[in-house]
Amino acid sequence: MRFLEGDVEIGAEAVLTWDGGRVQRLSAPFLRAQCPCENCRLAPLRLEPAMFPGLRLERAQPVGRYALLLGFSDGHASGAYSFDLLQSFPDKA
Ligand SMILES: [Zn+2]
Repeated sequence: MRFLEGDVEIGAEAVLTWDGGRVQRLSAPFLRAQCPCENCRLAPLRLEPAMFPGLRLERAQPVGRYALLLGFSDGHASGAYSFDLLQSFPDKA
């Protein structure tokens, strides 16, 4: 799927190909643990990728011109991941 600054393929991981040529492969459990939504940020427990075994990405939808809204197979879909946040992650996680 094409978005403003690149392309994304989703499944067990998100493969983000930025227009500058950078490619990131980020697993669904990693992204889920990094969810920037208010509920996750305010959760009493820090979220860890190990809490989401077998999780998959089911949806990636552009939000305006600055973020991707990611939906996961556990039904959680309220995190808008800004391009800045996504690019702050490692190339592989
Ligand atoms: Zn969340």
